[in-house]
Amino acid sequence: MDRDDTRALLTDAAERGARYLEALDARGVAAAPEAVERLRAALDGPLPEAQASGAEVFGSLDELGSPATVASAGGRYFGFVTGGALPASLAATWLASAWDQNAFSFVSSPAAALFEEAALRWVKEVLGLPQSAAGAIVTGATMANFTCLAAARHRVLEQAGWDVERQGLFGAPEITVVVGAEAHASIFKVLGLLGLGRARIVEVPTDDQGCMRAAALPRLSGPAIVCLQAGNVNSGAFDPAEDIITWAREAGAWVHVDGAFGLWAAASPDHAALCRGFEAADSWATDAHKWLNVPYDSGLAVVRDAAALHAAMTISGAYLLPSGRRDAIDFTPDSSRRARGVEIWAALKSLGRSGLAELVARNCRQARRVAEGLRAAGLEVLNEVVLNQVVVAFGDAARTEKVIAAIQTGGVCWCGGTVWQGRTAMRISVSSWATGDDDIERSLEAVLAAHRAVPR
Ligand SMILES: *Cc1c(COP(=O)(O)O)cnc(C)c1O
Repeated sequence: MDRDDTRALLTDAAERGARYLEALDARGVAAAPEAVERLRAALDGPLPEAQASGAEVFGSLDELGSPATVASAGGRYFGFVTGGALPASLAATWLASAWDQNAFSFVSSPAAALFEEAALRWVKEVLGLPQSAAGAIVTGATMANFTCLAAARHRVLEQAGWDVERQGLFGAPEITVVVGAEAHASIFKVLGLLGLGRARIVEVPTDDQGCMRAAALPRLSGPAIVCLQAGNVNSGAFDPAEDIITWAREAGAWVHVDGAFGLWAAASPDHAALCRGFEAADSWATDAHKWLNVPYDSGLAVVRDAAALHAAMTISGAYLLPSGRRDAIDFTPDSSRRARGVEIWAALKSLGRSGLAELVARNCRQARRVAEGLRAAGLEVLNEVVLNQVVVAFGDAARTEKVIAAIQTGGVCWCGGTVWQGRTAMRISVSSWATGDDDIERSLEAVLAAHRAVPR
């Protein structure tokens, strides 16, 4: 392949990508079942013997792949708190892919390392976290939870005279891990990965919004880790951080915050009060690919005790000479990795403080508008809409499932099902830069039309 071909292919990719995004508004939000079937059939074969041109490869990707996608980059996708991709951030990813940097260390890519450092500094600034904390850019909040809790595991065991990186967990002092009954599923997965056990935990009962009840905290002794949540994945509610952190501090416990989307409330002066108290924790996990609207996959781990994160993640090898600079490989579970800092930096640079505040405040206002429209139609909104999340039921479980299916096949918008406080419900997460007020009105109409169309 020569340079002219490369230029033609990249230009074609940009052209097709732009066309794809421009056409999103006019298509159904769910993946069209015929398109998914066509793609499945087309991919169902052995590896061809012959080579194919870049144009051929890319043409099939677009013609077969694009129609089979979910329109999650558009303005009427409300599933899984995901967010879209800001144009500046998307374009930054494309350029960074052309750079093809290996962002594991400073010497392997000074540019990637510097964008990463700048992005981490801005993230800490906008989330109100200490600048002296260490940060790591990982694939998502799951890995950010993992990274933070690995640092926690290191420090609480080190304080008990145990070197977990060297000795592992065999024979180690027991760690008490405290989580809320409504913690995100990824916390349990990560505790399993860290050898702390998915079930070997103390679960604190929660209130009707999914918040840990500070009055129900257990007695702690010995090494302990407490996991708080800033933004319940259904209700959007925040655990009472001030009370719990005060209690945890007295016991010498490490406090971790899962704030995958909720921590971004700190960026909006109207919503920052929700995050009050969380800044006193020891570690924080969040996503850039949710509310910051950065392309996948992009998560952030921030750890107050930089030495603990370094001790948990550091690596040594003959080819790894000390650079005197921050090498990402010493702060993340990964070694070779792409330059995710570039798109986080680009998203923050393009929004600025004011744009990010506006994005968060707008999505919260839109969620309130959805809730108000649902209530006005006599529907049951099951949560207090404090952030960007709305949980609604359409009667019993069977009927709610039918209404959700009708909304998804209708194609105007996409919302997913959930179980909230024992009830089958639908969850509407408003977290995209692309969602305009007209998208909200159209989606509300479509939801209410589906509700009317399904027999009671
Ligand atoms: C989305 C989410 C996660 C998991 O994040 P990934 O980016 O999918 O790994 C963890 N916790 C909460 C509260 C979330 O909303």
